[in-house]
Amino acid sequence: MNGEEMRKSWNGMSEEIISGIAEWRLQHPQATFREIEEEVDRRLSVLRATMIADAALSSAQTEWANGSREALCPACGKPLEKKGKKKRSLQTRGGQEVELEREYGLCPACGQGIFPPG
Ligand SMILES: [Zn+2]
Repeated sequence: MNGEEMRKSWNGMSEEIISGIAEWRLQHPQATFREIEEEVDRRLSVLRATMIADAALSSAQTEWANGSREALCPACGKPLEKKGKKKRSLQTRGGQEVELEREYGLCPACGQGIFPPG
């Protein structure tokens, strides 16, 4: 996903979320300040998690695609061998689960496997 695609995807998603919050407010005219805050946070955390995952994947893809910035083993400094894509689950601070599918690298010298850029 390039920068333009990310912008379009995030724009579309944020419009849906904003409409959803406005709709929810109409259906919950008695909601307290706290309830409104929780609902807005809950909906925005989905966009937040998506943005983090997309941005993280975008930089990882750039790193691997660009030959001049080869991913190096953090332990011994040797270039990592690509071992195909693997999934990795991360938790955002907002408590959302983010699944990243990206290149997995294995060090031919010491056998350490990592997901660059970390
Ligand atoms: Zn190594």
